[in-house]
Amino acid sequence: MNAGAKLLVRYLDELAQVTDEPGKLTRTFLSPAMRRANALVADWMRATGLATREDTTGNLIGRLESPAGPRARTLLLGSHLDTVRDAGRFDGALGVLLPIIALAELRRRKVSLPFAVEVLGFSEEEGVRFASAYLGSKGYTGQLRASDLGFADAKGFTVRSALESHHGALFTLPKPAHRKRDLLGYVEVHIEQGPVLEVKKLAVGVVTAIAGQTRAKLLFKGHAGHAGTTPMNLRRDALAGAAEFTLAAESLAKRTPGLVATVGTMSVAPGAANVIPAEAAFSLDLRHPRDAVRHHALRQLRATADRIARRRKLSFAWTTTQDNAAVTCAPALAAALTASVRTVQGCSLALPSGAGHDAVVMSALTPVAMLFVRSRAGLSHHPDEYSSPADLGVALDVLIDFIERLARTHSS
Ligand SMILES: [Zn+2]
Repeated sequence: MNAGAKLLVRYLDELAQVTDEPGKLTRTFLSPAMRRANALVADWMRATGLATREDTTGNLIGRLESPAGPRARTLLLGSHLDTVRDAGRFDGALGVLLPIIALAELRRRKVSLPFAVEVLGFSEEEGVRFASAYLGSKGYTGQLRASDLGFADAKGFTVRSALESHHGALFTLPKPAHRKRDLLGYVEVHIEQGPVLEVKKLAVGVVTAIAGQTRAKLLFKGHAGHAGTTPMNLRRDALAGAAEFTLAAESLAKRTPGLVATVGTMSVAPGAANVIPAEAAFSLDLRHPRDAVRHHALRQLRATADRIARRRKLSFAWTTTQDNAAVTCAPALAAALTASVRTVQGCSLALPSGAGHDAVVMSALTPVAMLFVRSRAGLSHHPDEYSSPADLGVALDVLIDFIERLARTHSS
C-alpha cells in the first residue's frame, strides 16, 4: 500500500471515531460530533498548508492559495462530513480527506499550481436532522432560502436556531462563496454506493450524470367489503390496483434502459385479513440520468394508473413531492478525469449516479465532475461499507494526476 493510501485509511478510521452515538457512527448537522469532526479535519488541512475557516452554515473550508497570485481561479474539491445514523466511514468523508492527501503529495513533489484549491467539508448532505438535504452546499453556493430555515428537528429546534446557537450570532442568508468566473469547477470523489464497478472489476469510474429524480405519493381508493361474502367480480380492491401498478412500474423500468422505478412504501386500510382493502397509499421513486426519459416515463405511469383505476372502479390521486432535474457532469472536467483514470487504471468506465450528491447543488455555481470508487457489495449507509486500501490508492493517484493535468492545461 502506498504511503498516501495508508494515511488516508488512518484518517478515515480516526474520523469514524468522531460520533454522536457511542458504538456507532452518527454525525448530524451542527451536532457536537460535527464540531469535533470539523476541528480534526481542519488540523489535517493545516498540516498540509491549507488556511482553514468555517462559514456561517458550518461548512469547513481549507484553502490553498496559488503562487500565481490572487487573480488565479479556484478549483473546488470536496464532499460532506455529516453522516446517516449508524453510517459507514467512507460516504462523504472520503471526498474531503482524499483531496487533502493529494495536495500534500503535490506539495512533497514541489508541484506549484496555477490555480488556488479549496477543499470543502460540507456540514449537511444527508438530510438526517431536518429531513432536508444539502443544507451545507446550499449555504456555500448562496442557495439557502428563508423557507429552509424554518424546518424543525425532532426536538423542535429550527435550522435557524441551530445555526444561531452554533455560531452565537444572528444568521443571515449567505451569498455564494465565489463568483462563477473565478472558479474552475467542483470535483467530488465518492464511493459508488452501487455494484457496477464491482461487477466490472474496476477500482474507479467517472460519473457522466447524476440522475434526475421524481418522488410521488399515490392513493387508490375502492370499497371495503367482507372477504368471504363479496364475489370477485363485485370487488373494488384498492390494494390489487396498487399491486398492478407496482408491477407495471417495474416492467416499464426493466424495458427502459437506465430507468429505475421503486414502490418503497405501501399502507393498506382498513388492514384486516378478512376485509377487502378500501385504500392503498404508496410511494413511487423514479430516476433517470436524462430528464426527457424520466418525464416520458412519468406520463406513461400516470396513464397506467388512470387505466387501472378506471377498470377497477377505483378513485385515484397522485401528488408529486419531489422533482429534481438531472445534472450532467461537465464534459471538459469529465474528459480530464477519464484521461487520469486511463493513466492510472489502464481503462476507464463511464457510469451514471443514481444517488444525489453535493455536486447536484454545486452545479448551479460551477461545472462539476465526480469520481466513483468501488464499494464492496455496493453497500452504503451501513457500518459494513468498505472500499479497499488498494482502491483508495488508485483513487488518490487519479486525483493527483487530474490536478497535475489541470495545472498543465491552465498554465499554458
Ligand atoms: Zn454521500
